[in-house]
Amino acid sequence: MARPLTRCNEHFRRALRRLPLGVSSNFRYWGDDKTLYVKRGRGPRLWDLDDNEYIDYRLGYGPVILGHCHPDVDAAARAGQEVGTVFALSTERELAVAELIHEMVEAAELVRFSNSGTEAVMAALRLARGVTGRDGYVILEGSYHGLFDAVMWQADVEGLADVSDEPIYLPFGKGVPGLVRELCFPVPYNDANRLEDVLRRHHDRIAAVLIEPILGSCCGIPSTPAFFRAVRELASRYDVLMIVDEVKTGFRVSRGGAQQLYGVRADICTVAKAMANGYPIAAIGGREDLMRHYAGGQVTHGGTYTAGGMALAAAERTLTILRDTDALDRVEGYGRRLQERMGRVLSARGIPHCFAGHPSMGGLFFRDTAPTNYRDWKLSDYTFYDTLAQHLIENGVLCEPDSREPWFISAAHDQACLERTLAVFEEGVDATLRQLGHSAVQA
Ligand code: PMP
Repeated sequence: MARPLTRCNEHFRRALRRLPLGVSSNFRYWGDDKTLYVKRGRGPRLWDLDDNEYIDYRLGYGPVILGHCHPDVDAAARAGQEVGTVFALSTERELAVAELIHEMVEAAELVRFSNSGTEAVMAALRLARGVTGRDGYVILEGSYHGLFDAVMWQADVEGLADVSDEPIYLPFGKGVPGLVRELCFPVPYNDANRLEDVLRRHHDRIAAVLIEPILGSCCGIPSTPAFFRAVRELASRYDVLMIVDEVKTGFRVSRGGAQQLYGVRADICTVAKAMANGYPIAAIGGREDLMRHYAGGQVTHGGTYTAGGMALAAAERTLTILRDTDALDRVEGYGRRLQERMGRVLSARGIPHCFAGHPSMGGLFFRDTAPTNYRDWKLSDYTFYDTLAQHLIENGVLCEPDSREPWFISAAHDQACLERTLAVFEEGVDATLRQLGHSAVQA
């Protein structure tokens, strides 16, 4: 039986009068009768306005690494609030948090703060341009770096006769100036030859290669270790900077993020989501010689809310917990157990499947091998996943309804969550098979 969404739907109709699509981000609109409004969250769960309970595998697109409303982090944030919110002056705590970031992410020799991932990546790209005096940059297909013009380009691969052909790159929606496209050099993910080709021909126009080490908005497709190392090597060889965008992977896939996992060091990196368990703060970290270019008369960086008291205090507490406890081991362990047991359910029914990325943010595919790049991902059929996701959400397992986002795990997910999730998963798989038949699964 469908769960009631009476209050959510009523609220949607009211909200529509004042808020475009009834929400504050296009991605939160799930349809006129499916858009959820949250009453509250606690630990690994949230409740909607109709009091439907969900085990949350979205975690706000990743930040809530310790679970919703973590008591210690929230207490720290309240204490931070006592100091005052913003002064347009610095406080001592900025240094304490910068030290923590540096301790965990080696590449962050120096640190500057921002409020969001978008702002941090913008600041990192501006720094790279300021240092090199070049305006161009490489982005990799399938990456998401936030909502600013420079990075809002995606390959239109659907009409390609051959997937290795050169596609047209379209902006994510209207209002992104076409002029910006001229500075952007897109390259297919995990394709070091294409990257080398672009750098060989255009390195004198390129400031940086911007890489998301695991495609956190493309089902968790990871860089192969060889590709990630090749990006490092090619960036150094062609004298362009390597910006590693760890907004999703930072303090999640390991204490030192993907750079630690892969043993690769960025020139500049960005971190955000998991650093403050959901409070709005991000950081740019990088080589000292580069970061010192943030200076009067050189590269400008700032912002009214930068390093605000509450978010900074939340970051200090969250990072301390991540550094000093086994929280990330528990996140990874839960992700592994979840994948292993989901795999058993699927294997028992002869359904081809695999998982991509890191267990703390894993993608689920209904085929034997995971896509390795955006083109392959985009051209796959996700009907089985999309149908299954509706069953799961309907029954209180809140994964992303479309297959782009991986499943995010927090340290608050426990055995009870695991058992409940698997029971719902098993029922959902059977219901999906009844609805679509086995033929809907890609072999
Ligand atoms: N970079 C990456 C890798 C991201 O995943 C995101 C957000 N999903 C951003 C940048 C932008 O961050 P924000 O939404 O905080 O602006």
